[in-house]
Amino acid sequence: MNEPLDVKIDWDRCMGSGNCVFWAPQTFDLSEDGHAVVIDASATDEERLRIAAEGCPVGAISLWRGGVELPAGEES
Ligand code: SF4
Repeated sequence: MNEPLDVKIDWDRCMGSGNCVFWAPQTFDLSEDGHAVVIDASATDEERLRIAAEGCPVGAISLWRGGVELPAGEES
């Protein structure tokens, strides 16, 4: 079985569009200062996390497994 994914958000890039919250509301939330925050990386299945990451308009979301960043669009 695959190790669970880690989800990271680059706050220097995030501009609070909320797309990630739309795609995966159990994993992402918007903080009061307008940044997305990860509330529970494991609450959304991997395929949908990839959609959320690819749907970020500024590419602020990265997915990691075992300390290694997954290339965008990689199938596992
Ligand atoms: S989709 Fe990207 S820019 Fe929009 S809130 Fe989420 S991380 Fe931030």
